[in-house]
Amino acid sequence: MGQRANSGQRARARLVQMAGPLIDQIPAAIALFDTNLRCVMVSQQWQTQLPFPVEAPVDRPADELFANGFSVLRSYLERALLGEALSSDPAHIVDKNGTIFWFRSHVTPWRDGTDKVHGAMLLCENVTREIGQALQIKVLNEQLALYIDKAENFAFCLLDANGKVTLWNKAAERMTGWSELEVLSRTADFLFECQDQAADWNEQKLAVAREQGEFQDRIWCARKDGTFFRADVTIVRIDGDDLLPSGFGQILRDVTTEEAQTRSLEANVGLLRSILETIPDALVVIDAEGCILMFSKAAEKMFGYPTSEVLGRNLSILMPESDRKAHEAHLARYRQTGRSHSMGRKRRLIGQRKDGTEFPHALHLAEAFGGGQRMIAGFMHDLSAEEAAAAQLEQLQRELAHIARLHEMGTLATTIAHELNQPLMTVTNIVQTAAEILSNGDILNPKALAEALAEAGRESIRAGDILRRLRVFLSRGDLEKTLEDPRQLAEDAVYFEAAAARFRKIVCKVECEPSLPKILVDRVQIQQVIVNLVKNAIQSVGNDGKVAITIASERSDLLFTVSDTGPGVPPERVSRLFEPFSTTKVDGMGLGLPICKSIIEAHGGTIWYEPSSETGATFVFTLPKTVEEINDA
Ligand code: ADP
Repeated sequence: MGQRANSGQRARARLVQMAGPLIDQIPAAIALFDTNLRCVMVSQQWQTQLPFPVEAPVDRPADELFANGFSVLRSYLERALLGEALSSDPAHIVDKNGTIFWFRSHVTPWRDGTDKVHGAMLLCENVTREIGQALQIKVLNEQLALYIDKAENFAFCLLDANGKVTLWNKAAERMTGWSELEVLSRTADFLFECQDQAADWNEQKLAVAREQGEFQDRIWCARKDGTFFRADVTIVRIDGDDLLPSGFGQILRDVTTEEAQTRSLEANVGLLRSILETIPDALVVIDAEGCILMFSKAAEKMFGYPTSEVLGRNLSILMPESDRKAHEAHLARYRQTGRSHSMGRKRRLIGQRKDGTEFPHALHLAEAFGGGQRMIAGFMHDLSAEEAAAAQLEQLQRELAHIARLHEMGTLATTIAHELNQPLMTVTNIVQTAAEILSNGDILNPKALAEALAEAGRESIRAGDILRRLRVFLSRGDLEKTLEDPRQLAEDAVYFEAAAARFRKIVCKVECEPSLPKILVDRVQIQQVIVNLVKNAIQSVGNDGKVAITIASERSDLLFTVSDTGPGVPPERVSRLFEPFSTTKVDGMGLGLPICKSIIEAHGGTIWYEPSSETGATFVFTLPKTVEEINDA
């Protein structure tokens, strides 16, 4: 037995010696076992390629070689010893690092020349890579199929190197109406057969993709039913490898609705822009932080800045330094509360041009939301011209009123002389009489003399008062409002007219409610109104006529009434009374009443004619007791 074992060992040693180097050349892990399933030899690859190397495997029992539980190999070896040759399916084990290891095993009986089985040969092929790739491909395919069919808006197809369809996803079927079966192996020309597209469009674009790797364009595509749709088409060259054949991937995205929406949006934006550019008011849009987002053409003209210079900058550059703090505070409050008292209202503000000059403008604010952000749109109307015109008009009216009064002076010269003459005559008489008494040393009643001299003093004061009224009447007046006592105002206004009227025995009286409040008015202008009305009244009444000026308080207004006992205004003339140049007088201008109307309205009041059932005319005007500050800027 011992000898036989020895001769067996010798035989094996010889075999290993001879076959070993040869076996090592085979690119597989090979192990040879004897009939007791003891290892006779292993190839080098056995130790390097398999995850279960053991030290000095020769002479060890097979179980020790597959110590990590891979007992199935032992059963294969046993079958080989019985003369069977077999190959296993790929199987895997996990090595101690957690790496998955795939291999396929082949076992064959080891026979000598007499066909006697000496042992078994095990060949293990490492197939991890192949299995891995196959698995990956399988997963990829499934994912791709999933992706390809689920991609609702993307028609996806694969083309071979000649442009023939090899894959056509569900979305492509939905988008084009062509099923995969109908298009497989066809070139995709049918997709691009639209009137104005070149016949060889498909081939041309494939050529571009072939050359540059990719082609992209927006084009018209045809459906099976002959209708068209707009699509973004992308063709990508696929450089094939062992697994994937060369060809092209083609993706279509239907953009018909999107494009229509974009077009209509663009059209709307364009329309809006041209409307905004056309309106003469400047438009400046800011965000809640005050940064300028939009600046219209009119704004460029109004402020002297080109749009590019103001975009993104703070609105405060368009206002004088002094207003900026208030503006910042206002915006901060708006950001906090989301409210602004200026929204929807018109305010008068001062703007500052690029060159530093300032100008008044009316600002109308509106709130807007767009792109998820809050915006404020400001429409600005330049008031420079209007205000200059108004100021000029006011100046002209003032001049006109002044000239009217100077003219009046001519006609009233006799009255004035008469008025002044009276007190001066009285003073002269008293002073002369007193001088005479004194020079005669005839002072019988010194008390009476003193009283006479006091009367002379009062008369000279009256003369001074007459001169004061004259000065007031003729003054041009300052451009400002002052607090005036209404009675004093009216009495001063009518003084000379009333004095002149007395020559015609016309009574002209001012009657007031007691304790009327003072009013804030432009004295000269309001007196001009009273003079105009009183003059018309005096002109209209005959001798012995009456003209009454009454002032009464009515809620927030003072009511001035000028009535006379004349014939009144014929009904057919009433509607045109306040129109310029409407006169019935030979030397009339028809400007008195229009001037009255503009002055009263500028003071926040109204003026009208009140026809009465009795004879005579009544003109009424109101003045507010407290004058509102219109400019709340
Ligand atoms: P003018 O006095 O220069 O005519 P006005 O504007 O002051 O201009 O008056 C316009 C016209 O209104 C007068 O010509 C006159 O016909 C009529 N009118 C104005 N006041 C009276 C009045 N108190 N009574 C009758 N008619 C009047």
